[in-house]
Amino acid sequence: MLRLNYYLAFFLAFFILNACTQEEDSVKDSKTSQNKGGVVLTFDDDYVDDWFNVNIKLKQYNWKGTFYITHFDKLTTSQIQELKYLQKNGSEIAAHGLHHIKTVDFIKQNGDDKFIHQEILPMLDLMKQKGFNAIDFSYPYGNRNVESDQLLLKYFKTIRGTTYGNEAPNLQNCYYNKNNLIYGLGLDNSYSHFNMSYYLSLLQYAKEHNKVVIFYAHKTVAKATKEYETEFNTLEQICKFVKNNNMKFYTVSDLDKIK
Ligand SMILES: [Zn+2]
Repeated sequence: MLRLNYYLAFFLAFFILNACTQEEDSVKDSKTSQNKGGVVLTFDDDYVDDWFNVNIKLKQYNWKGTFYITHFDKLTTSQIQELKYLQKNGSEIAAHGLHHIKTVDFIKQNGDDKFIHQEILPMLDLMKQKGFNAIDFSYPYGNRNVESDQLLLKYFKTIRGTTYGNEAPNLQNCYYNKNNLIYGLGLDNSYSHFNMSYYLSLLQYAKEHNKVVIFYAHKTVAKATKEYETEFNTLEQICKFVKNNNMKFYTVSDLDKIK
């Protein structure tokens, strides 16, 4: 009888121990997934005042963005201050070329050297003088090819092109793929793929598969009436989804830190 109790105790202890280990594993798994799935919100051009205002609305979501700047030489002192504020609060200031030209077309006509000396080096210098060390680049008009990628990757860590369409999430290009060439999907109302539930379905997929969605926007407005305009509501719904689902906001420079 004593011996039987001994075996019983042994089996009970074994099952309890095993159950605990399984529970610990699942807690660990859910923690890992919370750390990975998320979004990169990127912004192109020089709508600095509008972005500064949108940041006031989105602050409550503990968000951060990546701002790819063009025409840096035309920014006012107060716009430089606004960018500094965004940078100080966790956002990234990145590069979008000095004069917003079509990269591949320009290189075809003028060559690599002229492109680097006109569009890239002076921009990086001007930015550095104001305290911005730009390490990432996005292509104006998404105009890129393999040769321009190779050239730009000598100067930048990650370069961003553009992607379009309403493909099923598993076929979409707009997820971070551990590559230094990334593709963003546009959020402007004028895109034919514009659809809030589609954007949210991409985030849902990111959540379920520990992926990071990359979006891009331009001028941030209350109501879009023209091309290159992204509505506050679009950004707010994305931020709400990310917060409610314990997902993460990343900047582009955060991406290669994801294990
Ligand atoms: Zn642009």
